[in-house]
Amino acid sequence: ILEVNHLNKKFGDNEILKDINGTVKSGEVICVIGPSGAGKSTFLRCLNLLEKPTSGEVKFEGTDLTHVNEKQLINLRERMGMVFQSFNLFPNMTVIENLKLAPIRVKHLKDDEAQKIAMHLLDRVGLAEKANAYPSSLSGGQQQRVAIARALAMNPEVMLFDEPTSALDPEMVGEVLEVMNELAKDGMTMVVVTHEMGFAKEVADEVWFMADGYILERNKPDELFDNPQNERAKDFIGKII
Ligand code: ATP
Ligand code: MG
Repeated sequence: ILEVNHLNKKFGDNEILKDINGTVKSGEVICVIGPSGAGKSTFLRCLNLLEKPTSGEVKFEGTDLTHVNEKQLINLRERMGMVFQSFNLFPNMTVIENLKLAPIRVKHLKDDEAQKIAMHLLDRVGLAEKANAYPSSLSGGQQQRVAIARALAMNPEVMLFDEPTSALDPEMVGEVLEVMNELAKDGMTMVVVTHEMGFAKEVADEVWFMADGYILERNKPDELFDNPQNERAKDFIGKII
C-alpha cells in the first residue's frame, strides 16, 4: 500500500533522511524506533508529504506522491490518517464536532450520516459518553483516543502515528495502546513511531530501527529485540529494555 524508494530529505545542507527504502503492505503494522534526532518524525511526515522529500519516491497505492499536483495530493492525503504526540483537537468544538468536521466539510456527508459515524467511532474508543464534552475537560489519554477516532472518521486506508503516547502520564498510556491494538487487530495498516517496546513486540509485523537518517536494521520484533545485529541497534535496545 506504501512504497518508499531512495527517499532523501535535506533541511538546508543537513541530510536528515538518507536513501530510505521500504514497503508497507496492506494490513501490516510497522513500528519505527530509534534515538532522538534519528529522523523518525521526518520520515513519517514524508509518507504523506507533510514534508516534501528532496529526492526519491513515496508511492501510495501505486501513485508517486512526489509527482502529483496539489489537488491530487489533498485527495490522496485524505486517505491517510495521522495522529501526533500532541492531540491537536480543536479546543472550541465539542468532541463530536471535532469528529464530524472533516467528514462534513471535506467528504460532504450529511450531518446525520457524520453523526452516526462519529458516535460509532466514539463508542469504539470507549468515549461515547463524552460526545458533548469539550477537549479541555478530558484527560490526555481521552483526548488522544478522540484524536484517533477523529482520524478514523475519514475512513483512512493507512494510519500514521508519531509517538502517540509519549506526551501522556504513564497511567494513560495503556488505554491508548489498547485502542491502537484493537485497530491493528481489525486489519488497519499502521506505521507507528513509538518507544513502547511492549506494544511493538506484541503488535508489529516488522520493526524498523532508524539512526542518523538511515534505517539500519529491520526485522520481526522478536528477532530485532532479542538478537539485534547492528551495533547501534544493540546499544539502543540495551538502553530501553
Ligand atoms: P525525536 O525522537 O526527538 O522525535 P526524530 O527521530 O523524530 O526525533 P526528527 O524530528 O525527524 O527526529 O528530526 C531529525 C533531524 O531533523 C533533527 O536534527 C532536527 O533538528 C531536524 N529537523 C527536523 N525538522 C526540521 C525542520 N523543519 N527544519 C530544519 N531541521 C529539521
Ligand atoms: Mg520525532
